[in-house]
Formats: sequence, structure tokens, C-alpha cells
Amino acid sequence: MSHIPLVDLKAQHHQIAAEVAQGFAAVLENTSFILGKEVAQFEEAFARFSGVSHCVGVANGTDALELALRAAGIGQGDEVILPANTFIATALAVARAGATPVLVDCDPDFQLIDLRQAEAKVGKRTKAVMPVHLFGQAAPMERVLELARPAGILVIEDAAQAHGAKRQGRTAGSFGLAAGVSFYPGKNLGAYGDGGAVLTSSAELAKKVRALRNYGSEVKYHHPETGFNSRLDTLQAVVLSAKLSRLAGWNELRRGAAARYHELLSGIGGIDLPRTLPGNEHIWHLYVVRVPRRDEVLKKLQAAGIGAGIHYPVPIHLQGAFAHLGHQKGDFPCAERAAEEILSLPLFAEITPEQQERVAGELRKAVG
Ligand SMILES: *Cc1c(COP(=O)(O)O)cnc(C)c1O
Repeated sequence: MSHIPLVDLKAQHHQIAAEVAQGFAAVLENTSFILGKEVAQFEEAFARFSGVSHCVGVANGTDALELALRAAGIGQGDEVILPANTFIATALAVARAGATPVLVDCDPDFQLIDLRQAEAKVGKRTKAVMPVHLFGQAAPMERVLELARPAGILVIEDAAQAHGAKRQGRTAGSFGLAAGVSFYPGKNLGAYGDGGAVLTSSAELAKKVRALRNYGSEVKYHHPETGFNSRLDTLQAVVLSAKLSRLAGWNELRRGAAARYHELLSGIGGIDLPRTLPGNEHIWHLYVVRVPRRDEVLKKLQAAGIGAGIHYPVPIHLQGAFAHLGHQKGDFPCAERAAEEILSLPLFAEITPEQQERVAGELRKAVG
């Protein structure tokens, strides 16, 4: 029986292959590999798509978050509040900017940042909160802003999983001072290698990130500050532009596929289906169910050729990289319980009803 991958990047490539080949040929011909005009064109289009004034392309999503924090003036001695149930990069970006990640739990229903806990963690050193739009749906941003604004705390969004997701009609990544986006190949908008972007409607912050990504320089060979080499490759911009024009349609197909999983899996004992926070337009980066004896279920699915995965098996506070924060098991029970039960099912725009039926059938069997 054929394997059903978690994400099928080949199916997507086939749709844009000709356009990418043509775009690559043009870049190769004029050798504008670094910050060619295709980068600026993509930045403009993605800013418009995301409902912000500026997009600055960088080397990856982790850098996007770090550069956004640095451009916002966050560093040594500052604290940034973020959820414990996220990909390691959210916390790494904060640490690499020189600040201290302050972790909070998630809510049990949607696995989004718990704002009551966030409020309790606000102190004199709190400079920013970094909500994560996890699995393709926005965090409750109206509550994030309610918490941040009166306290003078900055909001930097981790929008790495939320390209085009909306909350109350507004695009994820457009709520705070800035957002970091990832174009890792498996994301809803993915490059053919690493890529990322900072989104912002602040001209000042955009200007700072443009300098930071380019050795801290606005004028060639003049470096008033310490910067980085973190630019979005011109070739990646070609791929991203080709995909961006199709992204809304692909997100719609993912929504249809998620609805089909809901139908196929509802009412089966032992399978807890993902929920959408009211007011959200979900883009289903991942379709994450919760099951008991998850590791056993995952093994059975993999043996049956189903490319299910876990996002993520270890919360930030139990990672060796952040042991120095001094947390222990039991500190964030919702995040810990989620890490033990979550299971991501294959989901991509081109997944067929037959593939989904097979996934659902095997899952039903595996859960027993
Ligand atoms: C993918 C991802 C990142 C990091 O992006 P990279 O491009 O891999 O550096 C950050 N945060 C979250 C939530 C992600 O899923």
C-alpha cells in the first residue's frame, strides 16, 4: 500500500514547476542571487497579503523572530513571555536576542497561550509577549493586546504557522508591533530551502530589520551597528511568489480537508478532535488530534504507511536547552498533557478523500 506522507511537497511542486523554472532561469541569467528584485517583489506581495505595510525577507523564521525582537530594542535583562507548547525556535529567538524567555501554559481546549497565566507573569522586566499562532490558528489577540497595551508591553507574534490565518477578520501577524514568519518547506507557504520574513506596519522597525539582516548596514561598507547576514535568497523569493498567488486557494483546500477529517472522525471514542477558537479563520497548518496511548497509536499508523507526526513531543521547559530556566515536570500541566496525547495527521492541499478515508480507518483501528 502506498505511503501517505504528512506533507506532500511533490504535489505542490508539480503545480508551479514551470513558473519556478522560468523564474530561476531569469535569476541565473542576471546572477542577482542576493537581494535581487524578486525579493522586493515578494516582500511587497506578502505584506499586502498579510495586511501590513512592510515585509522584510530574512534567512529563516528563527532569525525573523530574533531580528524583530532586536529591532524592537529587546535584549539583555529583558523578559519575553511565551507559551511552553511551541516549537523550540520561539524560545531560541528570545534567548539569542539576549533576553530571558518566561514560559506560561496553554489552554486545554485550543492549546493557545493562557493569558491569565501571562498576566500573572508580568513584572518589571517584561518587555514583550510572543503569542504563537499554533497549528494555523491565531491566538486570542484581542486579549493579548488588552494585556500588553496598558502595561506598555510589546507584542511580537510568532506567525510561523499562520500564513493568512485570520482572527475577527484581521490577519495573524498584523496585530502586534511585528511578527516573525517562517518559509520552511513544510509550512503552508514554504520555500525550497530555508526562508523567513518580518512583518510590521512600523516603517522604523522595518528599516532597522533591513539593516540588521544586511551586516548592520544601510550604505554598503558602512556599519554603524553590529548586524547579521540573514537575507532571503532571490531564488527562494521566486518560489515563494509562485506559491503566494495560490496560497489562499490552498488554504481553502486545507480547510475542506480538515472538515472531512472532522466528519470521518467525529463520534469515535478515544479520539479528541482539534477545535477552532470562535472568531478564527483557521488555515490548518497541522490537523492535530489527541489520543490515549499516543506512542502506540503512532507506531501502528506508521506501520500502516501513514506519515503521522508529533508537534511537539517535548515542551520548552523540559528541553535541555532551557534547563537553566529551572522548571520541572508538572510546571505546565496542559502543555505536558498535550505533548503526551497529540498526533498530527497527514494534511496538505492536494490530499484526496480516499487518502483521508484510509488515514481515518487506520486511526480508528489503532485507537481500538
Ligand atoms: C517553523 C517555526 C519556527 C522557525 O522557523 P524556521 O524557519 O524553521 O527557523 C518558529 N516558530 C514556530 C512556531 C515554527 O513552527
